Amino acid sequence: MKARMVHVGKKGTQISQAYDVNGQHINAVDRARLNELLLDAAEAMENVTIHFEYRLLQADFTENKLQFKLSNNEIEEVNVDFIIGADGAYSKVRSQIMRCMRMNYDQEYIDTGYCELSMPPARDKDGKPTFALDPNHLHIWPRHTFMLIALPNPDLTFTCTLFMPFQMFDDIKTEDQLLTFFQEHFNDSIPLIGEKNLKSDFFNNPRGSLITVKASPHHYKDRTMIIGDASHAMVPFYGQGMNCGFQDVEVLNKILDKHQIKPVVNGDGVIEGLQEALDEYSNVRVKDAHAICDLAMYNHYEMRHAVTSVQFLAKKKLESAIHYMFPKLIIPLYTMVSFSTIPYSQAIHRWHRQTRILNFVLLSTISATAAVTVVYGLKYRDHLHSTAGNAVRAIKDLFLKN
Ligand SMILES: Cc1cc2nc3c(=O)[nH]c(=O)nc-3n(C[C@H](O)[C@H](O)[C@H](O)COP(=O)(O)OP(=O)(O)OC[C@H]3O[C@@H](n4cnc5c(N)ncnc54)[C@H](O)[C@@H]3O)c2cc1C
Repeated sequence: MKARMVHVGKKGTQISQAYDVNGQHINAVDRARLNELLLDAAEAMENVTIHFEYRLLQADFTENKLQFKLSNNEIEEVNVDFIIGADGAYSKVRSQIMRCMRMNYDQEYIDTGYCELSMPPARDKDGKPTFALDPNHLHIWPRHTFMLIALPNPDLTFTCTLFMPFQMFDDIKTEDQLLTFFQEHFNDSIPLIGEKNLKSDFFNNPRGSLITVKASPHHYKDRTMIIGDASHAMVPFYGQGMNCGFQDVEVLNKILDKHQIKPVVNGDGVIEGLQEALDEYSNVRVKDAHAICDLAMYNHYEMRHAVTSVQFLAKKKLESAIHYMFPKLIIPLYTMVSFSTIPYSQAIHRWHRQTRILNFVLLSTISATAAVTVVYGLKYRDHLHSTAGNAVRAIKDLFLKN
């Protein structure tokens, strides 16, 4: 998807807003397929064994023991050398670490919930199935406090997600209320989703909640660490949650290599130099994880509200123009986050500095334009007066005659 497609007004006028001045794009990825690919890749490694249906109940980081509940309700204890908790936003590994050290932990639910709706393929003029909307765009219906988005899938459908305050979900109790709400706010989406589909998805699909989780540090001694959402869950509006998890792995690998940590399993639970490597990992990673959690929250505001503001769009255009001419002087925030490996914390720092430069350029341009207008206005006052007077008289004549 090379751009956002903003749907405005009842008719759903579509306005394309490119993600990047050099045409770079983001990808819509099939989540289940990605999971399969990752599992296949892990399975292909000789030293990897995968166990399904093992639910972690407890972790003992002194004795290096994990206790699992199996699908047949049996309890199994396992001895381990090192534990990496990649068990998501509600991580058990994290909660077990918090019992034995002073881990800072911060969680915040936002008032917005979400519900998925599916948009089936449309028919082209030859009757063949085709995408109902342009598939090279991420479609947004921004409505300030709520929004609808749509992302394309390989099977020609779109997955739409309605993000809005829980109270608004609760207020829609009947099919008629739902239809009236959609006619009012997302009218052009109704024929694309289909009334029947819309009603069935809205009333049957679950409402998800959105949480931000910040933890610090991301490890405990040389015994265990957390990565992915377990260490940094974020609201989904920057599309970076999973990417940030992959980056954790990349950063961790680099640090392990730097400290020459060998993947040797010696059975006594001691891995030389690991403590220093993990100290460095948390030192580097915590600030970037917190930064992307904050940026994701900011992008919620940008997607549902700012993309409709003329001032915001003017600033974006100016920013893109400067970036195009001087690619190193100003790099738009979205480009830094989505199309570069600039660490998230540095991206925020740079963004704030750039905003000051942009504001200065904007202010200087406005001041210069105002100054020129005043100078010319004074110099050609009489001429302008008579021109304006003539124009007013011409308009009056026109109306009086008609
Ligand atoms: C609505 C929505 C849209 C999103 N959109 C995007 C997007 O566009 N781009 C993007 O990059 N990210 C997106 N994300 C975020 C992305 O889904 C997460 O960042 C990513 O899934 C985190 O991966 P993870 O492996 O760390 O955790 P998870 O995907 O949560 O996986 C955790 C795993 O641990 C297992 N587990 C949990 N507890 C236990 C236990 N006690 N014992 C054993 N196993 C356990 C779970 O079963 C699960 O398999 C979105 C999230 C939401 C909610």
